[in-house]
Amino acid sequence: MEKQRLENRQRLVVVPAPFQGHLTPMLQIASILHSNGFSIIVAHTLFNSPNPSAHPHFLFIPFSDGLSHEDSIISSYNLTTIASALYTNCAAPFKELLLQLTEEAQNIACIIYDGSMYFVGYVAQQLNPPTILLRTTSAPNVLAYHSLHRLLMEGCLPLQGESLVPELEPLRHKDLPTFISTNVDTLLNQMNRLQLGIKSSLGVIFNTVDCLEGQRVDELRQIYHVPMFTMGPFHSMAPESCSSILEQDHSCIAWLNEQALRSVVYVSLGSIITWEEKELTEMAYGLANSNQKFLWVVLARAINVTEWVQSLPEDVKKAIEERGWMVRWAPQKEVLAHKSVGGFWSHCGWNSMLESVYEGKPMICQPCFGDQRVNSRLACHAWKVGVEWSSHVSERGEVEKVVRTLMLESQGMEMWQNAQRMKHKLRQAVTQGGSSYNAAIHFLDHLLSIP
Ligand code: UDP
Repeated sequence: MEKQRLENRQRLVVVPAPFQGHLTPMLQIASILHSNGFSIIVAHTLFNSPNPSAHPHFLFIPFSDGLSHEDSIISSYNLTTIASALYTNCAAPFKELLLQLTEEAQNIACIIYDGSMYFVGYVAQQLNPPTILLRTTSAPNVLAYHSLHRLLMEGCLPLQGESLVPELEPLRHKDLPTFISTNVDTLLNQMNRLQLGIKSSLGVIFNTVDCLEGQRVDELRQIYHVPMFTMGPFHSMAPESCSSILEQDHSCIAWLNEQALRSVVYVSLGSIITWEEKELTEMAYGLANSNQKFLWVVLARAINVTEWVQSLPEDVKKAIEERGWMVRWAPQKEVLAHKSVGGFWSHCGWNSMLESVYEGKPMICQPCFGDQRVNSRLACHAWKVGVEWSSHVSERGEVEKVVRTLMLESQGMEMWQNAQRMKHKLRQAVTQGGSSYNAAIHFLDHLLSIP
């Protein structure tokens, strides 16, 4: 009976982009769909491939990405090169995979693909299966393409740092995503891809919530006239499973259990940003001198962390031993949900932002590249749950000051209250009758209505 039920499920092919912040939301949406009766095929690159054993109900099929092992160690420096190599190399192998699935009579109801894997849209157009796009960033990131296009047409490039982008207020020119080019040809190319991807799809899913940016998604609906579903944060609706590429170190949870309520600042700057030793050292001084407890994810691929810690001055080492806990990679959602965590020093990746506000945790926002400045600006100036922090430390004492602002000062307390209000709103959105809950129902109906 169960077998027959599974065989009768509608088959969906999901194609994630091979980066942690993209893979996670795709697997979460796939889990939501699986628990609602769909069968899932994950077509993925060999690079950063997901762990099939964490999702035993999905069928995982890799396709070649043409990357050598040396290319595959990701960092801030080679992200763009890896991304464009993947997109050039993957179209043909993906087409082959899709043909093979069709030949094997694996009737595909729909392909759901990450908006940055735009080659999937081109291949699907040739072979006909319908597509749905998943956008793993916030809505203003998509609107930013339009704003940059407008600025280009009005002769307003190069960008003017502090100038506001009126249609995306509070964003300034300098907050616009760094992956959108200001080179005329490249920007027009990127616009074409974006528009083609959205217009050729039967819908767009956003990992976002109406109370955060429903108005922005409405603006996109008016531009594209394509159904758009704001059904985030996915992690709150997806059945529990781990989509982490790196192994999570759970030792920090036992350590957190021993700490006082809201006493710990959690520090994690995502899966890609690459740190120089001197930047880490400045962070270590600041955390030590702040006198706060801290849980620090030090993902330093190019540095021997044990040797680096040994090279620190005695008082900093002592502070790390007495008040800190360091891991290479943490179970972040569990950490943010922990009652001992009082704040989050974040690089403002979109998943981290959603996870943080869902748990009502205020932030130090230290954006570096991509969409992080957009997200930081939203957190600090629209949602008022974050304090803005630049990566460029010019004086010792700056890090310490921002950590103390978050954890001890009235500004930090206000941010905490605002974050609690947001937490409440987000939780309402995902419960029965809430905006994300309803969007998920509409999305399922929409999928089932595909001929
Ligand atoms: N994450 C994690 N452990 C860590 C740090 C991050 O599991 O120590 C997860 C985090 O929960 C989030 C994802 O990795 O879901 C990072 O995605 P995000 O969009 O925040 O940033 P990116 O890594 O893509 O820059």
